[in-house]
Amino acid sequence: MKVPPINLAAEYREIKQEANKRLKAVLESGLFILGEEVREFEEGFAKLIGAKHALGVASGTDALLLALMALEIGSGDEVITTPHTYVATGMAIARTCAQLVFVDINPETFNIDPDLIERKITKRTKAIIPVHLYGLPCDMTQIMKIARKHNLRVIEDCAQATGAKWGRKAVGSFGDFGCFSFYPTKIIGAYGDGGAVVTNNAKLAELVSSLRNQSDPHKTYIHGRIALNSRLDTLQAAILNAKLKHISQWNRNRIRLAENYDRLLKKIPQIRVPVRPEEIMQVYHQYTVWVSRRDSLLSFLKKEGIAAGVYYPIPLHFQPCFKHLGYRKGDFPHAEEACQNTISLPLFPQMTPDQPAYVASKIKQFYS
Ligand SMILES: *Cc1c(COP(=O)(O)O)cnc(C)c1O
Repeated sequence: MKVPPINLAAEYREIKQEANKRLKAVLESGLFILGEEVREFEEGFAKLIGAKHALGVASGTDALLLALMALEIGSGDEVITTPHTYVATGMAIARTCAQLVFVDINPETFNIDPDLIERKITKRTKAIIPVHLYGLPCDMTQIMKIARKHNLRVIEDCAQATGAKWGRKAVGSFGDFGCFSFYPTKIIGAYGDGGAVVTNNAKLAELVSSLRNQSDPHKTYIHGRIALNSRLDTLQAAILNAKLKHISQWNRNRIRLAENYDRLLKKIPQIRVPVRPEEIMQVYHQYTVWVSRRDSLLSFLKKEGIAAGVYYPIPLHFQPCFKHLGYRKGDFPHAEEACQNTISLPLFPQMTPDQPAYVASKIKQFYS
């Protein structure tokens, strides 16, 4: 049996009729920048997240950059985030010329450890970017409390957590901004790049709407600020509109599959399954477990046709592009250990029930 990392062809079959209809209408209209499909998606996406405004942008990376730009964060400012994330989080901060300040993760959740944040706050700290990694929400109660106490902005990196909830609220609706990615393999993926910024603040929404469009959203050819061309494509919005109504079901599938994995893997002493805190809805963008003999397990699974992966093999503070920050081995021990000793097992909404069972049986075989 082969277990792929994702099955986008099977997903396409579920949305084909509506997606094709919408794509055809866009192609026939000849209107490819913003327009009705983007507006409809922004409305539907804001509703899904429970935020007042959503703006479609070109990628998740740009969503983060635009949020930082809207908050006027730049040179001389510090921004706190986690070293255990996709590099884009750090790239966006670095692009503004603000200083990246890392805080180690909690090894149970893989997310930034809120208990370690306050000691990294200085007079220059302007914002915290919590990353809801693998679809598990960060502790937003504690992070928002710290932010309010120190008058900091919060930008949630929700690239892996569309639809995840902390308490009753979806992630992305807590901070000043929530930033989402529609990279094809994300929880809701476009057929190309895409992203969104959500906010409850009308002024900030207007600002992002302008900044994504050369600071000239109404085509007056007067450009007030230095900005970007970072709009969500109309064709991508058409795909996303066709997917939007499926998200809840797909996330329920993910949760069911994760529960399946939990049950199958719990008995293996060399594996530690993800935590499942009460009152939280995590959406398992990845099903990531602590394991012993990681690299051998990874190559064994690959040989058996199982597309397991490592997210991420190198923490941000060891990346060549962030070398100038001067961090050293041992600075963030939990993040460093996670990069060495975790593995992500295939999990996607169209998986068949026999697939997790097959993966678990192969893992059992490896350790026996
Ligand atoms: C995917 C991802 C991003 C960047 O999104 P793109 O759409 O690829 O630019 C940012 N942060 C995290 C945590 C991600 O997983």
